[in-house]
Amino acid sequence: MDLSKMCIHTITTKPWNIEKAAENYSAAGVKGITVWRDALEGRDIKQVGNMLRDHDLTIVSLCRGGFFAHKDSGKRRSALDDNRKAIDEAFELGTSMIVLVCGADPSQSLEESRKQIREGIETVIPESSAAGVRLLIEPLHPMYADTRSAINTLQQANDMAEALNSAWVGVAVDVYHLWWDPFLEREIRRCGERGNLMAFHLCDWKVPTTDLLLDRGLMGEGCIPVKQIRSWVEAAGFNGFNEVEIFSTKYWQEDQSEWLMKIIKAYKENS
Ligand code: ZN
Repeated sequence: MDLSKMCIHTITTKPWNIEKAAENYSAAGVKGITVWRDALEGRDIKQVGNMLRDHDLTIVSLCRGGFFAHKDSGKRRSALDDNRKAIDEAFELGTSMIVLVCGADPSQSLEESRKQIREGIETVIPESSAAGVRLLIEPLHPMYADTRSAINTLQQANDMAEALNSAWVGVAVDVYHLWWDPFLEREIRRCGERGNLMAFHLCDWKVPTTDLLLDRGLMGEGCIPVKQIRSWVEAAGFNGFNEVEIFSTKYWQEDQSEWLMKIIKAYKENS
């Protein structure tokens, strides 16, 4: 695959600050960047947006909003405020999408968490619409259903996006979270048909995986059929960026310039 639709999440090269990431991605021919909020800390966000565009990078999305589910109503209110802040940041940055890690609270049922997620998203739709920023529900692997997300399959994400029925709500498909799902092809098709398929995240599932959060693999080094899933996503009408999103303590310890070259090679050959 060529690099014309290649995007990298800033967290993938976490040791680099956003200025260094922009310079190096751009020099390597990468065309898109997804910005994690920690990369913006202490910076003028508008200026960062201009800096990224000066490097000829499309700002694909901001990561991340969400965490709507809490038993405690005060925490739910703070979560709404944080999502409003994320919407403001996305607007300043000049990106049109925010990825949502929707949240879960192990002291209540998953159904209750999902109800709160739906209400939370619904509450901030007016702000997202005013800012021109779409909110993307990203289903997370069920191993994260305790504290990170009560939305664990693409079917659940599709159900929620369709129930919310807003042009400002969509879905992000991440191969790491969804590759195991026997209904994945069908749900990807459904997501595309309803106009909700808005982002596609890439990495691989290492065998064995030694850390459930920080041991993601490079495309081709694990067991995810990345090319096959990409073919389903494209058949469903998706023509946006393919976003490389790898959290890895191991790879963050490497020389990041060499790591970037490995990412590009894996993207070309195994994505
Ligand atoms: Zn993702």
